[in-house]
Amino acid sequence: MKCYRCGSGMSYEKFYGLYEHFWGWRCIYCGEIVDQMILENRLQIRADQIIGLRRGRR
Ligand SMILES: [Zn+2]
Repeated sequence: MKCYRCGSGMSYEKFYGLYEHFWGWRCIYCGEIVDQMILENRLQIRADQIIGLRRGRR
């Protein structure tokens, strides 16, 4: 896994959120954090933009 901001290596670490902990990638250089939910949300947003009319959530 490489950081999308600076291209440095990222380490897989455990993070503690408000209600639960999660695993994610942290850049050892700039501190950027990417977790699975962020990745999935980004993919979902991109998919929504591409699909446009399809909104099956309501
Ligand atoms: Zn970085």
